Amino acid sequence: MEQTKTIFLLSLFSVFITVCGQEKQIIVIDPGHGGTDRGAVGINGLREKDLTLKIAQAIVHYHKIVLDDRYDIYLTRYGDTLISLGHRTKLAKILNPKIFVSLHCNHANNTKAMGLEIYVFNDSIPEQSLSMAKTMDEYLQEHLGYRSRGVKRANFQVLRDNRGVCPTLLLELGFLSNSDEATHLEEDGKIKALGLAIVMGIHNILK
Ligand SMILES: [Zn+2]
Repeated sequence: MEQTKTIFLLSLFSVFITVCGQEKQIIVIDPGHGGTDRGAVGINGLREKDLTLKIAQAIVHYHKIVLDDRYDIYLTRYGDTLISLGHRTKLAKILNPKIFVSLHCNHANNTKAMGLEIYVFNDSIPEQSLSMAKTMDEYLQEHLGYRSRGVKRANFQVLRDNRGVCPTLLLELGFLSNSDEATHLEEDGKIKALGLAIVMGIHNILK
């Protein structure tokens, strides 16, 4: 019910913005998991759902400070709540963003697996998502101390449902199963660095 109300209010708001002619480019940031869906859990107990929300909050923070609120940024969740994947992509359909970025952290049985991954939908249509993913990958490689595992394709629901709606990237921001990366993600400064690099990567894509 809350979700339906939020979506209705956002529709009204986007109509209002359009009518007023002060349209900023819209960005949707999707902090993965939330509520009873905690996502992956690190070897140090870090929970993916908490990390994705903190990174999203850092993105909003640096967008204000560094980019002077240049874009309209919406999050699919603002707290520790369970939002269905369907509702996340419904928001994209209503807001028609220039880019939708879903935030996640990785986990693997191989504890040596490490690095960042960026996913686009399987068939890479629209091509726009693929070129945005490459720009983001290059930007993050240049500005973060992580090894890139490259741009990959997958049939994740959030990518599939946003196909034909808006360019969508899914970022896997380090392995919680790897002791170095899990320890790295314990530090607030590292979370902030990720948020700053991601928002500047998005700006690099949209400017
Ligand atoms: Zn995840």
